[in-house]
Amino acid sequence: MANHIFGRSTKGQLPTAVSGDGCYLIDAAGKRYLDGSGGAAVSCLGHSNAHVRAALHDQLDRLAFAHTGFFTSDPAEVLADRLVAEAPEGIDRVYLVSGGSEAVEAAIKLARQYFMEIGQPLRHRVIARRQSYHGNTLGALAAGGNEWRRTQFAPLLVETSHIAPCYEYRDRRDNEATEAYGQRVADELETEIQRLGPESVMAFVAEPVVGATAGAVPAVPGYLKRVREICDRHGILLILDEVMCGMGRTGHLFACLEDDVSPDMITIAKGLGAGYQPIGALLVQGAIYDAIAAGSGFFQHGHTYMGHAMAAAAANAVLDEIKGRDLLARVRTQGEKLDAALRVEFGQHPHVGDIRGRGLFRGVELVENRETKAPFDPARKFNARIKANAFEAGLICYPMGGTIDGQRGDHVLLAPPFIIEDNQIDELVTKLSGAIKGALAA
Ligand code: PMP
Repeated sequence: MANHIFGRSTKGQLPTAVSGDGCYLIDAAGKRYLDGSGGAAVSCLGHSNAHVRAALHDQLDRLAFAHTGFFTSDPAEVLADRLVAEAPEGIDRVYLVSGGSEAVEAAIKLARQYFMEIGQPLRHRVIARRQSYHGNTLGALAAGGNEWRRTQFAPLLVETSHIAPCYEYRDRRDNEATEAYGQRVADELETEIQRLGPESVMAFVAEPVVGATAGAVPAVPGYLKRVREICDRHGILLILDEVMCGMGRTGHLFACLEDDVSPDMITIAKGLGAGYQPIGALLVQGAIYDAIAAGSGFFQHGHTYMGHAMAAAAANAVLDEIKGRDLLARVRTQGEKLDAALRVEFGQHPHVGDIRGRGLFRGVELVENRETKAPFDPARKFNARIKANAFEAGLICYPMGGTIDGQRGDHVLLAPPFIIEDNQIDELVTKLSGAIKGALAA
């Protein structure tokens, strides 16, 4: 068979995934892979979930698609109501799209249209953080601070400047209290707003727990609250990107609930459809919606597949499972067990600098030197070796070389299904340990 498909890599042939079974994926040769990262924090219910499959069959028998220019649909309306009921205070409108980048792109455009509608047309700038990823479409890419992804496409269309991430392991000074560190880095936002001119800034975008570019790095307590205050002082919208860390991944349906912060907008995707359907959502404060409703009357945006009935039905079934099986509590208990198992295995490891995260969203940072925190030489391609070794051993994990203010640092992101059992946590940690050992020996 000619092989005409191409993905991210044009080198080499990937195995063909043919089926899924709970926490495992199975390839055409019958090999089983423990899905220790849910792909990229997607498969929160594991694979082949019976309730989601039944809900999708049922929806397909009724209605697959009706264009949102003409109709709404029951699954889309129900999903929006359910998300609003669980969301932080003030969030009461939902815009359904097909994935994370689309959700962030919509957030940036909605912010811009909002300021046009309320007579503040100078507000067009976005501030985000250096260690962040917000998606690969042009607006979302402009917001993200991942240089490696941005460079080839510069200049980017949305004017964005980047401040420091909240990254305690690397940036908190010796003898600086955690809280004080959080306030200091949050205050970089104030400084940047003053530098740009507050009247020109429309939004600050951040992940409450940084995923792909850092490996499950939560903001320290108090950081997001300070950020919220600074945004309020200057009339700037706070957009929290929960595409990876939302939908229960941290043990709360929205990660920012744990920080006790209500943003102006939240983006979610990944775990929303749990991989059963492509779906993302932008959740919005009522005041933003109202300003647009009272102004031009509609959000000047849209995609053909937005509000897709099958995708919404999948997300409703995912929510049924999360709520009905009390999976948020399970994420918290299994997350503690995973954290404990990682600490037993790697707590004294000479090349593990940090173990962190929340719920079933955990990261292990690898360093050449534990004392100085010096990262490995990127030429060693340490994270790529770990990924290959783990995959060979039948473990899917998500190692990356994050950009740390110009330096490269390797980490492994873990985001297993919420249904992970204790023995599977052991399997995950054992296989990861072997993969790291093999990468160090190479
Ligand atoms: N935001 C964050 C925080 C993400 O982690 C991702 C995906 N890794 C995106 C946005 C983009 O989502 P998608 O790949 O579904 O477009």
